[in-house]
Amino acid sequence: MQMEPMLIAGLIEVCRATIAANSDHLCALDRAIGDGDHGTNMRRGCEAVSAEEANLSSLPLPDAVEKIGLTLVMNIGGAAGPLYGTLLMEMGRELRTQEAGGAFPIILKRAIDAVARRGRATAGDKTLLDVLYPVQDALAHRSRLSDIARRAELSANDTAPMKAMRGRAAYLGDRSIGHVDPGASSCALLTVAICRYLEENRPE
Ligand code: ADP
Ligand code: MG
Repeated sequence: MQMEPMLIAGLIEVCRATIAANSDHLCALDRAIGDGDHGTNMRRGCEAVSAEEANLSSLPLPDAVEKIGLTLVMNIGGAAGPLYGTLLMEMGRELRTQEAGGAFPIILKRAIDAVARRGRATAGDKTLLDVLYPVQDALAHRSRLSDIARRAELSANDTAPMKAMRGRAAYLGDRSIGHVDPGASSCALLTVAICRYLEENRPE
């Protein structure tokens, strides 16, 4: 799988900018059912990745993706750090082994399953998995980028009626119902930003 370094640099920048613009919103969501730091955590992680962008662009794609994951683990902190980190590290490893035959939906599925194992969570637990799995499903069905983005947004909203089963929000029990999950929201924001960027920067 070949990806231009320019594309990686662009994706890193849109992710950073999106999280920076929505950091307060993500903190507000996390204040409702957690400890209010999700926006700050994600911002720290994305800024650390941006700071490494020059090095990352010179690496082969699997190494770059794995390194982004490691940087996220080390800088996001909280529960989300190891989870987003696992997603990217596993994607990097899968890209390297190519056991999936290079098919991105399969690579993504394996990486999401690794996140689920890491968090001992499953779909419906009111976490970022509730956006990741639907996005993967849309991708596997060859949906258009705009439809994948829409699916991510709807899926994040769909976490509101769920009762949190994992993470800090789970301590609230039924009181977690009625609030969108912060991790699901950051995941949807990133998906929308990535889809939009890819749409605007399609190879001719
Ligand atoms: P912390 O909860 O340590 O303050 P963050 O606020 O950065 O960390 O991230 C919270 C988000 O992490 C949640 O909204 C949820 O989406 C996700 N999360 C927390 N625990 C788990 C878990 N065990 N499995 C999957 N996702 C989780
Ligand atoms: Mg938090």
